[in-house]
Amino acid sequence: MVSSSSADHVVIIGGGATSALIAVRLAERGFRVTVLEKAQLGNGSSSRSAAGIRAQFSTEETVVGMQYSQWWYSHFHDLLCSPIDVRQQPVLRQNGYLFLYEAPAAIPAWQPRRQHEVAQLWQQAQIAVTMQQRLGLPVEVLTPQSVQQRWPFLNSERVIGATWCPSDGFLLPHMIYGEGFRRAKELGVHVQTQTEVVGAVLQANRIQALLTNRGAIEADWFINATNIWAARLSPRIGGMALPVSPRKRYLYFLKPSQLVMDATMWQQMPMTIYGVGSHRGAHSRPEHDLLLLAWAHETEPEPLFSDADQDRIDPPFRHDNGIDNYGCAILEQVEQFSPLLANAGGLVATSSGFYGTTPDANPLLGLDTYQQNLVHAVGFSGHGLMHAPITALLIEAILTGNVEHGHVCLPPPFDSTPINLSTFAPGRSFENSHRETLVL
Ligand SMILES: Cc1cc2nc3c(=O)[nH]c(=O)nc-3n(C[C@H](O)[C@H](O)[C@H](O)COP(=O)(O)OP(=O)(O)OC[C@H]3O[C@@H](n4cnc5c(N)ncnc54)[C@H](O)[C@@H]3O)c2cc1C
Repeated sequence: MVSSSSADHVVIIGGGATSALIAVRLAERGFRVTVLEKAQLGNGSSSRSAAGIRAQFSTEETVVGMQYSQWWYSHFHDLLCSPIDVRQQPVLRQNGYLFLYEAPAAIPAWQPRRQHEVAQLWQQAQIAVTMQQRLGLPVEVLTPQSVQQRWPFLNSERVIGATWCPSDGFLLPHMIYGEGFRRAKELGVHVQTQTEVVGAVLQANRIQALLTNRGAIEADWFINATNIWAARLSPRIGGMALPVSPRKRYLYFLKPSQLVMDATMWQQMPMTIYGVGSHRGAHSRPEHDLLLLAWAHETEPEPLFSDADQDRIDPPFRHDNGIDNYGCAILEQVEQFSPLLANAGGLVATSSGFYGTTPDANPLLGLDTYQQNLVHAVGFSGHGLMHAPITALLIEAILTGNVEHGHVCLPPPFDSTPINLSTFAPGRSFENSHRETLVL
């Protein structure tokens, strides 16, 4: 059993959303906290995110964790004691997440494997909904008719059904780490930017001090919150090899050239997922008067990426690269379900960043297998903003020893299903681990 004194000094490596919320939580518990960021705050994926938040997952621990995260973000300003001018802008918009599933009959007969795949995915989705409802999520299974009625801009002809959860939505990423670090500083956290961790002094399976470009820093605990840099950093400071693969992801922005629906309906559009499975998964949500579109296309990991590569737009992904680009491939998917949205206007911008993915698409949260005072909070596989509040809670539980038989009990009303930490253990075997199937 791990236990520490709340007077302990904790160093958090990384200056993104995960670090910000861990810093606040630990400072509130009386820990002395220092944050080290090699560039500026928000240098990583936290400033490049689609910022969706949902509890529709297939992993029970994640469903419970995201219910807690949604609650936390809906009380964000109170919990962070935000100044009045910031409070006017909520960090969370609960427009809901709508997963559209295709009917096998909508797939051409010459694609029998695909027909089988979509039938299976729809079956799995309904099983997941039963589990999510048991855990208290207000998720519903909708018929194609109901989809058409509720969202007239969708064409439900090729849809067999949908899952809909109104408490899902999207976040304001810069506000999470901006307000998070503001509050952390207010609580006495020392935030040091332009400070890169390059090594460590080790003794008897513990990190004694981190070595940085600005000198050494001693502490009792060290938290790796470096996301896509995690696999690079961990061995440098004596930690275990981490299976976190940086994979490039793009966001596209469509500007409507005409009014396709009234402004209120536009602003209330849910995050909509246009089919699930092979060559599907394009999704969209409103971003002011633009439509933000994304798709987790097949891609190879880029372990040798540079910071600048985060914003590198490869030619096939340039929105202004004629029709031979991935933006058009996304729009083709959207068109199958909403010709109105797909043809509403043109793509006007592309942005990009990296997901830090793990083999089972679940995060790596917990103690290192070599260094007893090193804790990892990485590998969110494209879900790190939504995970940040529950991550902060779990890291606090690990540091304070508030773990019973490997489980962490959340505060009411989330206390009926304790979170089994082994699901997220950094040293778990991926052959037997539960693979998250609802990945975007
Ligand atoms: C295109 C895209 C879409 C996404 N969509 C979603 C979504 O819809 N919902 C969602 O929840 N998540 C989404 N994500 C993922 C989410 O943005 C990330 O999981 C999350 O921002 C990770 O936050 P973090 O604080 O852990 O890491 P980061 O924000 O990446 O911060 C890590 C920090 O560590 C610093 N660092 C690295 N090495 C060192 C070192 N040696 N010394 C000191 N500092 C170091 C880096 O400079 C960086 O600032 C998306 C990501 C992308 C790219």
